[in-house]
Amino acid sequence: MDEQMAALADEISAADGVTVLTGAGVSNASGVPTFRGEEGIWNNEFDPADFRMDRFERDPAGFWTDRLELHERMFGDVTGPNDAHRALARLEDLGVVDVVVTQNTDGLHAEAGTNRLIELHGNNARSVCVECGESVPTETALDDVRAGNSPPSCPVVGCTGHLKPDVVLFGERLPGGAYDSARRMAWESDVFIVVGSSLTVVPASTLPEEAAERGQLAIFDTGETEKDHLAHYLVRGDATETLPALVEAVQARLGREADTRGVENVTQEG
Ligand SMILES: [Zn+2]
Repeated sequence: MDEQMAALADEISAADGVTVLTGAGVSNASGVPTFRGEEGIWNNEFDPADFRMDRFERDPAGFWTDRLELHERMFGDVTGPNDAHRALARLEDLGVVDVVVTQNTDGLHAEAGTNRLIELHGNNARSVCVECGESVPTETALDDVRAGNSPPSCPVVGCTGHLKPDVVLFGERLPGGAYDSARRMAWESDVFIVVGSSLTVVPASTLPEEAAERGQLAIFDTGETEKDHLAHYLVRGDATETLPALVEAVQARLGREADTRGVENVTQEG
């Protein structure tokens, strides 16, 4: 087994607090396209300016028409959680990972079984009324748009508000509660693991900096990130392979611990 992976497995098994931050790289293998980089949809297919908060406020009908197209491109081919999502859920089950903080809005961590989850940028499967806060499945809102009713309106009788995807749009502030919790977790963690995020988007990009001041920082990515210079562990490769390898290393360690305890018990009973 890879020495670095074994060392990290030891580190997280012994740690009091372990927080994971995930980005788009975790969901690539599930058919969700990346936003940034040369292949990213913002560079080639869509203009981020069309999806800004000020565009939504100025022209909600046009926003939703474009959003329908974006939604179909982003989520049309999604195949469900992949081995990286499942590995993180398993690390929670094993009592090793305390919380997953994600920049993704695809809901795949929850689907894979992660319970303690902070969705920093919201969840694309929900839409909310900007007036009364009523939550509606985004599919319902999109059906309205498909039927020519754009922008989709709130289903609550007497409410005249428009629906908005329950995600943080460009130019919109992060929900204070989610970011504050994520920051607190980063600060309190002995080990902070970043998976599949280029760490270029403020303010999520500042979490690893704060975490590295306090504890150990591990970065899992296929390529270089902005914060590699701060990392104590750099694991290169596809997260659908590297995270299952980490699970295996943790299980091997937990197995050794159980064996040791078993031997001690036998000795005591004898
Ligand atoms: Zn409403």
